Amino acid sequence: MAYENNVNNLTWYPWLNNQYKKIINFYNKNKCSTIIVYNSINDNSNNLLCYAVSRRLICQNSNYYKFCNTCNNCILMSNNNYPYYYKLHYLTLNIQKIRDIINNINKLSLKQVKIIYITNIEKLTYQIISTLLKIIEYPPSMTYFILSCNNISIVPMTIRSRCVCWNMQIPNENYSIKWLQTIIHNKEIIIRTSLRICNGSPINAILLLKSKLWHSRCILLSQLSNALLKKNMLLLLPILSTNDNEIIYLLITFISDIIKLIKNTSELFLINLDSVIRIKSFLHINKNDICKIYKFWHNLIKCWYYLNYKNNINRELLILHLLVNW
Ligand SMILES: [Zn+2]
Repeated sequence: MAYENNVNNLTWYPWLNNQYKKIINFYNKNKCSTIIVYNSINDNSNNLLCYAVSRRLICQNSNYYKFCNTCNNCILMSNNNYPYYYKLHYLTLNIQKIRDIINNINKLSLKQVKIIYITNIEKLTYQIISTLLKIIEYPPSMTYFILSCNNISIVPMTIRSRCVCWNMQIPNENYSIKWLQTIIHNKEIIIRTSLRICNGSPINAILLLKSKLWHSRCILLSQLSNALLKKNMLLLLPILSTNDNEIIYLLITFISDIIKLIKNTSELFLINLDSVIRIKSFLHINKNDICKIYKFWHNLIKCWYYLNYKNNINRELLILHLLVNW
């Protein structure tokens, strides 16, 4: 189909087909003023899907799911020159920019299709959210608002209550493994582990396996073993300080697995399947330490949230506080 092969030379993923069709069906049945928030843990899939949907909405000769790729609008989109497709990144967005775009849109013909696509709306400031709210309350004609986020639960309710939330589904784990095995040549257990760490996203799983973080994960596991044995979490300070925030997330997965094993959960449900024997060896901890593990897990999640969603955080102090108070 046209949308599968021709999304501006970007790689299209087979598991997006169904979602794309459902979204187009939705647009065909609803007014264009309906605002959709696309919620996905994977930026790559989200971007692709939002772009493909935009192409279909902008096309002048669309045939249900397909965009023609030959009309004037399609040619402009292919060359990244369609003037009324505004892709706005949360980091470079400000109130004046939104107002300028809306002023510009209001001067255009009522029949002209306009798309305002804003990424990571969960990271927008309160002031920008307020401005956006006023606009989506009375949207300009023939203007589609496409909003994307990685975590719908922290998008303000004022926005969520005015939008339809589209949760992007992740493919079945075994299907993803088969697909990944055609691209990378790691052992199945490694691929499955990476996939679980990435909450089922095949694209993120590849990126993780190819990243420096995958190597840091081995060091993290050794240092965690040492820290638990010596009952001193400060031993984790060097590895947590010298890596980016994702290392905290990896630590959360290891501690989650320890808690699962303490609770006698089947090994099949662990995240770090490639490290089961190592993680089992941590279970020598006594009863007092079990309470500490629970508290540590809870504090780690809070720390992860602050590092990702709060501004002006002193990272070093936050991590130090976490490790001292375990
Ligand atoms: Zn077209």
